[in-house]
Amino acid sequence: MQDLSFAVRYVSELLNTAISQRASDIHFDPFAQFIRISLRIDGLLHRHDELACNAYGSVIARLKTLSSLDIAQQRLPQDGRFEWQKQHFRLHTCPCLHGEKMVARLLPTLKQQLTLDTLGLLPAQLNMLQKSLSKGSGLIMVTGPTGSGKTMSLYACLQFLAQQALQIVTLEDPVEMALEGISQIPVRKDYSLSYTDLLKAVLRQDPDIIMIGEIRDSETAQIAIRAALTGHLVLSTLHTSDAFSCVQRLEQMGVPKYHLDDCLNLVLAQRLVRCLCKQCEGSGCDYCRAGFHGRIGVFECLQNDEDFTKLHAAGIEKVRQGITTEQEIQRVL
Ligand SMILES: [Zn+2]
Repeated sequence: MQDLSFAVRYVSELLNTAISQRASDIHFDPFAQFIRISLRIDGLLHRHDELACNAYGSVIARLKTLSSLDIAQQRLPQDGRFEWQKQHFRLHTCPCLHGEKMVARLLPTLKQQLTLDTLGLLPAQLNMLQKSLSKGSGLIMVTGPTGSGKTMSLYACLQFLAQQALQIVTLEDPVEMALEGISQIPVRKDYSLSYTDLLKAVLRQDPDIIMIGEIRDSETAQIAIRAALTGHLVLSTLHTSDAFSCVQRLEQMGVPKYHLDDCLNLVLAQRLVRCLCKQCEGSGCDYCRAGFHGRIGVFECLQNDEDFTKLHAAGIEKVRQGITTEQEIQRVL
């Protein structure tokens, strides 16, 4: 009983701290001697606490109960969700050498309207993106490593498109945020349907715009291109470092160059850089973490092989505007 009341108190304090510190993830790493608990804030991991091994079992049980997961099951990974103080969390567990490793992800919430002009695009880039979105058909790709803000950029594009009377469907793994006026389909691994089967089914339902969470293989690429060539606007992502590599990857996936020439509206490559705190201008205060507060996107936009602003140059522009620092650009880019 004592264990349980400790766990309830510990977990609620931890979740409250994660929310107030604007963390994106809480990591629980079991080692031989202790459990390390860390918070990811503005993309960087910070050590938060060390928990005694004998206290961890009740903490796992508490989080699993919140997420409606099987407490007895410790040998298989599990995935659940819960809500705490109006913040949505996703809990993932995975068996490790010294116990179950867990990650609680704080799902993004819309604190303000997610619009294209808040992403961090330069004025010319914003103009290119708006024109590409207004074309009504073709392919728009967003590229960058994991955690570079691709999903938020796509969500901002969808919110922009949702202002018009259009059928918008997304295929996501997982759905990170519920959007109004958009049919979002979560891709679940336990479905017997494959990703491409689901995508084909979606295309039969006459959508105007399709967002495919990620182009994972050649078959998905072919279907996406066919859809883009036949009057749909298709938005998707790829894990490549820059805009040129995205085009190369699509070609490697078997998409002929003449098809890309016909339908590729725009490639965005992006990173997230930390913004200097506005309260203390970077010297460090209670409001921020080491002088930084929040992140903003740095972009390059590729259209018809034209000369364009490279990621690094776009980052330097953010330094010039006093939004971030040169060291931060060097760290991220
Ligand atoms: Zn500050």
